[in-house]
Amino acid sequence: MQAFVYTARPARVVFGAGALQHLGREIDLLGARRALVLSTPEQAAAARQVAERLGDRAAGIFAQAVMHVPIETAREARAEAARLGADCAVAIGGGSTIGLGKAIALDSGLPILAIPTTYAGSEMTPIYGLTEGGLKKTGRDGRVLPKTVIYDPELTLTLPLALTVTSALNAIAHAAEGLYAHDGNPITALMAEEGLRATAAALPRLCDDPRNLEARGDALYGAWLCGSVLGAVAMGLHHKLCHTLGGTFNLPHAEVHTVILPHALAYNAAHAPAAMERIARALKGEHAGAAVFDLARRHGAPTALRDLGMPAEGLDRAADLAVSTPYPNPRPLERRAIRDLLQRAFDGTRPDR
Ligand code: NAD
Repeated sequence: MQAFVYTARPARVVFGAGALQHLGREIDLLGARRALVLSTPEQAAAARQVAERLGDRAAGIFAQAVMHVPIETAREARAEAARLGADCAVAIGGGSTIGLGKAIALDSGLPILAIPTTYAGSEMTPIYGLTEGGLKKTGRDGRVLPKTVIYDPELTLTLPLALTVTSALNAIAHAAEGLYAHDGNPITALMAEEGLRATAAALPRLCDDPRNLEARGDALYGAWLCGSVLGAVAMGLHHKLCHTLGGTFNLPHAEVHTVILPHALAYNAAHAPAAMERIARALKGEHAGAAVFDLARRHGAPTALRDLGMPAEGLDRAADLAVSTPYPNPRPLERRAIRDLLQRAFDGTRPDR
């Protein structure tokens, strides 16, 4: 056994169908009395239900979360929290809403209770993002990690099937890169492999019936584990490429992860054979990259960047950005090979590794 360092993130997790019923108890346990409820405009009805459940523990609702947390939205939400005298934030939604909660916590230190309704995994990480002047900056700060997370699969029944599949592949990307992280350890590897297995096994059942609550539970459990890996170890080329493509070319988050992952794994395959074996085993495929590609294609997810609105003339810039700052990755960052990777992702070519 090699020496390692593992930092466990101190979140309290309440998991199960109907777990939302414990919200009041969980707010009390946080020692809070006035919660500001956050959501996107699309999930305003869910935010209202949460506020009703909170009764006089609800200070108000801010239903204006949008993708990538624009600094203006963050400022508005912070001002609203201060105006209402909120002493905690309850974020119900995907990574965009939880990201807004993090922006409030970063500024004010208010505790966050997260109720994730996608598989993006932000609730398990101390990573925040803020977009100012078209530029998204990310950072790590222990203050933004939600104190409590309620995972209730019933709340994911409404997640549209297309987003269900790409969001699950977003989760899979965290675990896959976690398996070859330079700071990985036996605990994160266990979580990663089990997260991959549970998430992938849920997909065919969800495609048959998106309202299969048992499968929704398995996918959310898998997403929790994958998100925990994202929060614990450093990500590599795949996450760098997705961050660049999403931020610079304004491409949709979960879809970009879905398209890039097979190619990033193929790029790293020869430099991380043990991780690739575990990924392939968990996904029941022969090779890691090909197994992810097949998983996406089998469940109707996009497999080509060109179909996401990526301009062909942007591929050179994306390759430049991917090698502009150093970061850990099993295979050294080779500009020409990364440009080739991007071309294959653009065309939607199935990798053979
Ligand atoms: P999202 O939060 O943007 O949600 C996409 C859309 O789906 C929204 O309109 C949302 O309201 C809707 N939606 C979510 N759950 C639903 C449900 N159950 N039923 C019906 N509609 C639902 O998407 P996302 O992929 O979860 O999050 C993406 C964002 O999160 C990106 O900005 C990404 O950078 C960030 N993120 C951050 C971290 C982190 O650790 N900081 C991790 C993952 C993602």
